[in-house]
Amino acid sequence: MKILVIGSGGREHALVWKIRQSSKVSDIYCAPGNAGIADLAQCVAIDVTDIEALTAFAEEHAIDLTVVGPEASLTAGVVDAFEQKGMRIFGPNRAAAALEGSKAFSKEFLKKYRIPTADFKIFGEAKKAKKYIEKCGAPIVVKADGLAAGKGVIVAATIDQAKEAVDLIMKQKKFGSAGSKVVVEQCLVGEEASFIAFTDGKTVVPLPTSQDHKAVFDDDQGPNTGGMGAYSPAPVVTDEISRFVMEEVMLPTVRGMAAEGRFYKGMLYAGLMIDDGRVNVLEFNCRFGDPEAQPLLMRLKTDIIDIFEATIDGRLEQFQLEIDPRPTVCVVMASGGYPGSYETGKQIRGLKAVPDSPEVTVFHAGTKRNKGRLVTAGGRVLGVTAIGESLDAARDCAYRAVAKISWAGCHYRSDIGNKAIQRRSD
Ligand code: ATP
Repeated sequence: MKILVIGSGGREHALVWKIRQSSKVSDIYCAPGNAGIADLAQCVAIDVTDIEALTAFAEEHAIDLTVVGPEASLTAGVVDAFEQKGMRIFGPNRAAAALEGSKAFSKEFLKKYRIPTADFKIFGEAKKAKKYIEKCGAPIVVKADGLAAGKGVIVAATIDQAKEAVDLIMKQKKFGSAGSKVVVEQCLVGEEASFIAFTDGKTVVPLPTSQDHKAVFDDDQGPNTGGMGAYSPAPVVTDEISRFVMEEVMLPTVRGMAAEGRFYKGMLYAGLMIDDGRVNVLEFNCRFGDPEAQPLLMRLKTDIIDIFEATIDGRLEQFQLEIDPRPTVCVVMASGGYPGSYETGKQIRGLKAVPDSPEVTVFHAGTKRNKGRLVTAGGRVLGVTAIGESLDAARDCAYRAVAKISWAGCHYRSDIGNKAIQRRSD
């Protein structure tokens, strides 16, 4: 089979790495890919939202199956365009991807189907949003309606901060048209976890649980990033909570979306806040998490092409995933200054000291080759991912590899996985 993967991050490197393991696959293309992906697939310079160029490429190269990584492609309608041409593609269509693409839609949906989430109100006018904030008090959360690459959510500690967030989103248009509406919602406390599943629109097949680390510094300090590391499984999601999430979140969501005429197939990702066993949905994503994909795909033993095909054909009911019981940890290494402004083009050293092995794989995100040298090309640069007999062993293995890799200004969190290890010893 000929496969096209859309995207260029660590998630897409992990997808390509997993697809490469399938005996059914001959050629893999990736648009646009990165330097690590280029070792496993042919990279093609097409932007992830250039739907016309993507469909033309897939037609021309007789691609059998296309796999979509980023949300921007899904909300731009890549699945609709491919399906119109009768080409097979894995992911939700545009109407279904609104679950991630519009926070206002997603919150109204959660309310309508009585899925637990923070209380909220939606505003199209800054003045009214600010009045509501004054009435509610702080802390309070302000969210731009549309996609903003993880930056459109402001957890405000004071009323003034929340009002500034409204101005930033609605008046200064920091996130462009994503900010024509805001969601103002109650601030939740607890521990976050990611619940990610395959769904064919009827059946939901969950992957193991995982946990991202959004804040840039250790102990969840500093501004939010795209994610500084992840591990699986996440013990905060007990078996009881998993059952609850399946029954009260995932299945009602898939059924509700069908009832809304927005039949949902692909990956469904619920971002959860768990407090003392109580679950609330913070957000939905309509694709794999990044970095959660890296530790999850390392644990997945089933041929991923079989899962993609069963999802597209509506055959998940008979599907069982085979999962490696061993835990995995991914540590993200980032450019100096990230998530603020950062320099690129720094030479990456030490990767040869970490050859791919069954225990550790270095997934690339923002990397490229410049005159034969591997250099940084983005905020998040590498995701060093390891598997071990225990979470401690996986974490130690990942950090041993991280210690061998460097570039000018590189930084990473040193506490990925500690929450789970701490929870176990409590
Ligand atoms: P974007 O749309 O900009 O890409 P996102 O999809 O990452 O953002 P969310 O996941 O909704 O946005 O929120 C990002 C983070 O903000 C969450 O992971 C969580 O840490 C925090 N957050 C969101 N909503 C709440 C809430 N109601 N209470 C407390 N924290 C929240």
